[in-house]
This record gives sequence, structure tokens and C-alpha cells, in this order.
Amino acid sequence: MEIIVAKRTGFCFGVSRAIEEVKKVLDEKKEVYIYGELVHNKQVMNELKELGATVINNLEEIPEDSNSKIVVIRAHGVTKKEKEVLENNFLEVVDMTCPIVENLVKFVKQKQKKNYYVVLYGKPDHPEVVGLRGNVEEEKLLITSSPLEIKVKKTLIVSQTTMAESDFKEFIVGMIKCNSFSEVLIKKTICSETIIREQETFSLSKKCDLILVIGGKHSSNTEKLYNIAKKNCKRTFHIEKVEELEQIDINSSDVVGIVTGSSTPEIELERVINFLEKFKS
Ligand code: SF4
Repeated sequence: MEIIVAKRTGFCFGVSRAIEEVKKVLDEKKEVYIYGELVHNKQVMNELKELGATVINNLEEIPEDSNSKIVVIRAHGVTKKEKEVLENNFLEVVDMTCPIVENLVKFVKQKQKKNYYVVLYGKPDHPEVVGLRGNVEEEKLLITSSPLEIKVKKTLIVSQTTMAESDFKEFIVGMIKCNSFSEVLIKKTICSETIIREQETFSLSKKCDLILVIGGKHSSNTEKLYNIAKKNCKRTFHIEKVEELEQIDINSSDVVGIVTGSSTPEIELERVINFLEKFKS
């Protein structure tokens, strides 16, 4: 068996700094609140909860003793209103919104001030997009994942940071075809981490017999990597934990490619590699 692991694995920069910050607060205070799931990964969330973290999913869940507690905002960011309410209720708010997401929000705001109508290629219910919508002028924003005819002439097209680059390109072509803009500005706002992982997944899926995509079952970036690999490699499997490998037919002659989502801890990858090592003997 040959095992080829993607070069870019483990937490992305944005997720990693948010987790480190939560652990730092836990070290000092022994407890912390997190606004929304920090990462779409059950194992990581359970570990943080055991250390003293509590997740609150919305403003209604703000605890009674919040004025003596610290809350951390996750990498996806939050709406302006949510941030204000958190600041008014908690002793301290540690904002770990990923700088790449922050840059996207800033850029949209700037361009809206210059009268651009903004088309955001993305999923309306993704937390990053919900956060962005709550920080910009909503009446000058359209969120869509399929091209649409719009009645405005001066337009900016951007993407949610975690969408697939190839799909964004197709979306842009579709938008140009069904609209007659007088001015259109296109900015690639997809995170480079996302692009690198997609490219690696694509090239591994071309040369491997089996692809294992490791990541949370609710992680949209992991699901996206699975879909990219599945197009070229029929034996592609999305697993969250090493135990799931027991259900998969693996041959000792297989060339196995492994990729991970940006919220998958390295330890999960190591467990999978250790399991596969058995097929080498
Ligand atoms: S995927 Fe990119 S934008 Fe999203 S949290 Fe990670 S580093 Fe930030």
C-alpha cells in the first residue's frame, strides 16, 4: 500500500488561532463561553467542553452571570447587532473572527459606500454569510449560489471565503451571460487555504485508488473536498473518525490519498495513518 497525505492538513490558520485563544482563556479562567460552534468537529468541541467551554448558540442563551464571564466569537464572525449585545452583556468579548473574513466584510462595505451593488456567491445560511449580511447594507446585497439576472448596472461580485474556486468561476461566467452590466468588478475572495486544499484534493483524486476525506459530517468545507474527489475517484469516503474505516473495503495494493477539512485535528489524521499502516505488512 502507498499512502499519500495532502501537504496541507489540520486546522487552517483562522480555526487554529480561535482554538488557541479559547484554550488560553481556559488556562487562566477555567471557563469560557463560545458564541456558536467554534469548529464543525465533534471531537474538538467535546475536548473544549471538557476543559470548561460552554457553547451558546444565540443571544437568548446568554447566561445570567454573563457580566463576570468571557465570550469568544468564532472565526466565522457575527452580525453587528450580535457583537453589540455580547459586548453589553459579557465582561469581555474576544473576537476571533478570521482576518480573511474580516477583509471580505470591509471590502463589501467600502464598495457599497461607492454605490456598488454586491453579489455574494455563497450559501445564505452559512454562519460567515449570516455574519457578513449583518454588517453591511442589506438592500445593496444579493446572496446566491446560482447566476441570476439583476437590474443594477454597477456591480461587485465576491464569494464566501470557503466556496470552491472552480464553481465561483462558473458562477461569474453565468452572471456575465445573463446580465448587461455597465460596470462589474470581480474580486476573488476565496481563502487561499481553501484553494490549496481543493487543488491537492483534485490532483490526489486523479492518481489514487481510494481517497479518504477526514472531517466533521457537518463541515461544509470537508463535504466540498469530498465532492471534488468523488468526481475522479469513485472510492472516495468522507469519514469523521478512524473507526469508520472498518466499514470500507481497503486493499493492500491500494494507493490511498488522504485529505482533511480545515477543522480536522491532526490527531484524527494520525489515527487514520496508523490504521492504514497495518495494510503495508
Ligand atoms: S478557511 Fe480561511 S477564511 Fe475560513 S477560517 Fe480558515 S483561514 Fe479563515
